[in-house]
Amino acid sequence: MAQPAKAFVGPMIHSLSASEIEVLPYALLAVNSEGKITSLLRDVNPQRAQDALKALNFPPELVTIHYLGPGQFLIPGFVDTHNHAPQWAQRGLGQGMHILDWLDAITFPNEARFHDPEYARRIYSSCVDGFLRQGITTASYYGSIHGEATKTLARLCLEEGQRALVGKCNMTRNAPEYYRDASVEDSLRLTEECIDYVRSLDPAGNLVRHVLTPRFAISCDAEVLRGLGDIARNNPDLPIQTHFNEAEQEMKATRELFPQFASEADLYEHFGLLGERSILAHCCHMTDYEMERVKALGCGVAHCPISNMTVGGGFMAAPVREFLRRGIKVGLGTDSGGGFSSSILDAMRQAMIASYAREVMSKGQDKGLSVDEVFYLATLGGAQVCGLGDRIGNFEVGKDFDAIVVGTQGSEQGIMTVVEENDSLRTVFEKFIMTGDDRNLIKVYVQGRPVKG
Ligand SMILES: [Zn+2]
Repeated sequence: MAQPAKAFVGPMIHSLSASEIEVLPYALLAVNSEGKITSLLRDVNPQRAQDALKALNFPPELVTIHYLGPGQFLIPGFVDTHNHAPQWAQRGLGQGMHILDWLDAITFPNEARFHDPEYARRIYSSCVDGFLRQGITTASYYGSIHGEATKTLARLCLEEGQRALVGKCNMTRNAPEYYRDASVEDSLRLTEECIDYVRSLDPAGNLVRHVLTPRFAISCDAEVLRGLGDIARNNPDLPIQTHFNEAEQEMKATRELFPQFASEADLYEHFGLLGERSILAHCCHMTDYEMERVKALGCGVAHCPISNMTVGGGFMAAPVREFLRRGIKVGLGTDSGGGFSSSILDAMRQAMIASYAREVMSKGQDKGLSVDEVFYLATLGGAQVCGLGDRIGNFEVGKDFDAIVVGTQGSEQGIMTVVEENDSLRTVFEKFIMTGDDRNLIKVYVQGRPVKG
């Protein structure tokens, strides 16, 4: 949808790579009516912003100019690489349980409720709105097993303006009778229907795409995995997501069901589900061989530090430093409802805590993650994991304008660490990342369109 062209004048911060953050106290960023970033000037006197726009052939009279106020700065929108939309109403329940017990006791009865289209509409509407309010401009959603509910979720994302991957979840076994696909054929047919429906909503996949979503191998017959692999091969635009080496209980059950495979990497690769389009949630327990395969095949990792430490079984901390060292794509996932929080700011902080645990476990070899690194994971890293690295994640010219105006002073301060007179932009940024929350997210944009504020 066309929007008036706009320009932002003021401080901006974004990631250039995993190790490099760019802090721009006096920037000017221009966005055209299609929501694309057309210019990023790095050193502009705010008083000369109009002249600068004229020089860019951006007639100031046709542009809405947003001068960022005191204490405000602009950052890219957050990317949540792994979450479960139907768990929106169960967040925080069942903490401390092991994964398969938690699924049976808490999750399956809850997700089964999305059989009711009206319930689905109500909860998904609240879910999409809730994520946007928390600055999550892109989400990779697992839906429930239901076709209608999954279509509703995709439609709501498009209507509300959230960039999203939306997947009908495939489950044909090891789930209760009341919550599994009726048959392999049914599971695949519903998936194809959802793919067609999402394409009819957004033919170019500008904002919303279907994502192939086998929940995990435990709940999928081999024929379903094979069928989804076929769909993936025939549809090179579709991303793929699944849970991968999440917990010991899950890995043991997988080995028992598929004794012919020595690892989950071999299993999913065999069925044609591993490649550059694959988003692998968790990857807590990885052998050297599996890391090599994941790197060679170009898969991305959705690191979900909150659920890894609270639900699933054991205090699990994925080897993120090792992933980064090997050049494996990594982003952050809230994994809510397994994760009790649907805030990426919380996931960033927990990723730091998990990385400090890894530092101890590795006897100092895997250094903990820095603020800059977790910010990268929540933005550019996540974009790459979702196959959108050329489209979003930072303020590179030519990308879509998905962004957040952060406020830190006066009525916008919320409860974050007080900003003091001599604080540098860098210091304010750190205070926000470590102590801010959604009250500091004054405005949120997706593809140039305001979606909050
Ligand atoms: Zn999950």
